[in-house]
Amino acid sequence: MLHTDLDSGSKKFLVEQVTTTARIALKNLVSKGLLPWPTVYSKEFWDVAIAEGFSTVAGMQPDVGTLDEESLQEFMNQANDILVDVKDTVEEFVQVTKDHVSEVKSSLKSMDKKDEDKLFYDEIERLRRQNKHLEKKAKQTEEKVKEQARTIEELRSKVRIDGLTGLLNRHALESDLSKELSKVKRYRYPLCLIMCDIDHFKKVNDTYGHSIGDKVLKNLALIWKKSIRETDSIYRYGGEEFMIIAPHTDKKEGLMLAERLRKRASSYRFVVAPPADYITITVSLGVSEAKPGDTMLDAVNRVDKALYMAKEQGRNRSVVL
Ligand code: GH3
Ligand code: MG
Ligand code: MG
Repeated sequence: MLHTDLDSGSKKFLVEQVTTTARIALKNLVSKGLLPWPTVYSKEFWDVAIAEGFSTVAGMQPDVGTLDEESLQEFMNQANDILVDVKDTVEEFVQVTKDHVSEVKSSLKSMDKKDEDKLFYDEIERLRRQNKHLEKKAKQTEEKVKEQARTIEELRSKVRIDGLTGLLNRHALESDLSKELSKVKRYRYPLCLIMCDIDHFKKVNDTYGHSIGDKVLKNLALIWKKSIRETDSIYRYGGEEFMIIAPHTDKKEGLMLAERLRKRASSYRFVVAPPADYITITVSLGVSEAKPGDTMLDAVNRVDKALYMAKEQGRNRSVVL
């Protein structure tokens, strides 16, 4: 990795090199769903970082969702340290390399062939050392990114709220469902799980765009939140999937609740941009009553199967299992 000419192309290449490790690590985090700040880690982020320097991106504010300020600050401080570190390393390397290159150029003018070779050899050695230093720095950066991953993991477990819809998230569901199933086992009351999935939601995104899709999810969450009892809980289970835990509710009542949710969803007019004024959606729902002694997996698998049957039978319906 030797760079003897520092035009803007080479500089860009250097910056890219030094950020590659961090970028790969960050991409891994995003792909594992560990990062709730996609804006900061988006391609655009790195494009800006490369084109305009890290001080510009260090100032970019992430989409903070519903994280508490203290946790966010902790994370941002770490992220900032990394960026500053990377920036300093790259700038140092660029400067040293630049100096060397201009020294070489001016010395060359007054040298014969033999001296020229020697000078090149020394410069190559120096640059190689500099490069080693850079690689070490990149490794340290990777370590810091791993540390960040641990912080994010901790933050996620603290945060129970889904950033888009404001509903409880899947992490909260897992923790709550486990407690609810223990109570069912102990006190033997009926409890229903309802799993809901928007029908052909991909088409909504494809036709109207992702932000309209997001708006539909937010509105649906609001409508459904108002449609359940205070003792019921609603969660965003995944992308366009929701789960409801309804304690003291048997199969029959569970089906009634599911049908109410289905009808409210399909009769709502979701406002979109012209030429259409609004769109409507349909949803499929699976309902199942938990059995005493069910593990979380048993209960979730059963309701998932019921939802699958609702889809199989033609969607826009509720199926009890
Ligand atoms: P099906 O009736 O079989 O459920 O069809 P579908 O299109 O709803 O199902 P599929 O699983 O093929 O696609 C789910 C879509 O949900 C794809 C994805 O783009 C969209 N989606 C998931 N999460 C979000 C989100 O947070 N926002 C938006 N706008 N779309 C999302
Ligand atoms: Mg789905
Ligand atoms: Mg769907």
